[in-house]
Amino acid sequence: MKPIQMVDLVGQYQRIKPEVDAALQRVIDGAVFINGPEVKEFEKELAVHNGSKHVIACANGTDALQIAMMALDLKPGDEVITASFTFVATVEVVGLLGITPVFADVLPGTFNLDPDDIERKITPRTKAIVPVHLFGQVADMEPIMAIAKKHGLYVIEDNAQAIGATYTFADGSKRRSGAIGHIASTSFFPSKNLGCYGDGGALFTNDDELARKLRRVCNHGSEVRYYHEVVGVNSRLDSLQAAVLRIKLRHLDEYNAARNKAASFYDAAFAGIDALHVPERSANSTHVFHQYTLRVTDGRRDGLKQHLEAHGVPAMIYYPVSCHLQNAYKSDRAPEGSLPVTERLTHEVLSLPMSTELDNEQLTHITDTVKSFFTQQ
Ligand SMILES: *Cc1c(COP(=O)(O)O)cnc(C)c1O
Repeated sequence: MKPIQMVDLVGQYQRIKPEVDAALQRVIDGAVFINGPEVKEFEKELAVHNGSKHVIACANGTDALQIAMMALDLKPGDEVITASFTFVATVEVVGLLGITPVFADVLPGTFNLDPDDIERKITPRTKAIVPVHLFGQVADMEPIMAIAKKHGLYVIEDNAQAIGATYTFADGSKRRSGAIGHIASTSFFPSKNLGCYGDGGALFTNDDELARKLRRVCNHGSEVRYYHEVVGVNSRLDSLQAAVLRIKLRHLDEYNAARNKAASFYDAAFAGIDALHVPERSANSTHVFHQYTLRVTDGRRDGLKQHLEAHGVPAMIYYPVSCHLQNAYKSDRAPEGSLPVTERLTHEVLSLPMSTELDNEQLTHITDTVKSFFTQQ
């Protein structure tokens, strides 16, 4: 059996090596490393794949969130409602810009923001909502967009984990994740569903004026060289990364299907173990399984993790401490106990290996090891 890793990027590269190597060589031969044609082509191709009017590439997913908030002119004193059960990036850029993060709780099944709790957290200072499409499923965007409209708020989708997922509205119409809010951000960190070979990120919008503002912020606040209209940043995707991403984008749907296949294998194996809750599928979103995240509800999550690791199966806790309980972001507004679902999940969740390369032998070893933990004691 091949050793099991959380993500197998070497195996994935081996399958596309000739294409990737040729593309990288082409960029090096052309020596246009920044703002070259590869980046422009990738932006166009990703816009088509996602059904978004504009894609603006940038340096990473954290920058993308910050650029979105700068383009919307969010300022100190403004409040942004987001999840506490997430990777810290969202909260970090809110903090950097001097904006106040306000945390809403998530739903225990999908791990995504609870629209009712978002509405409860709105104040006269609220300017935006940032739903995070956690682990590969789109947050419940229809009610979230309705709340935003009612209160005049912007919605920035943090789509770092769900690129390629599809959301279905009540009328049957469908949109990709990242094509629903006013702006969306994503990350091409190597282990993301669409990952490059270094850092990368992008912004999505269907609004021409917002697209112009986003591009301007990315480019030192400038539209005409050496004339700076607003405070900006330097955030760009380099051509080598764009070349890799153009190739991997053509495989994205197939990659997400491979992840779903592994997830179905896990689901079938774990049916009937009372203390294990397999990931709930949202009623209105497909799942692209950035993570396959179990809930272990008998208090033995850490024991299961140790048992797996002792048998050559890595497992990770995403996330062990929620944002509102991090030393950097603690506040009286969200004391311990104020987000009960979020806090409970940090003690229950366990993510199993998930990648495009898991074979049946590895999956069988993983599921047998999980099952042996529950039968042996
Ligand atoms: C990965 C990730 C980010 C940040 O992306 P980087 O490219 O690492 O800066 C932001 N939000 C979420 C939910 C993520 O998973």
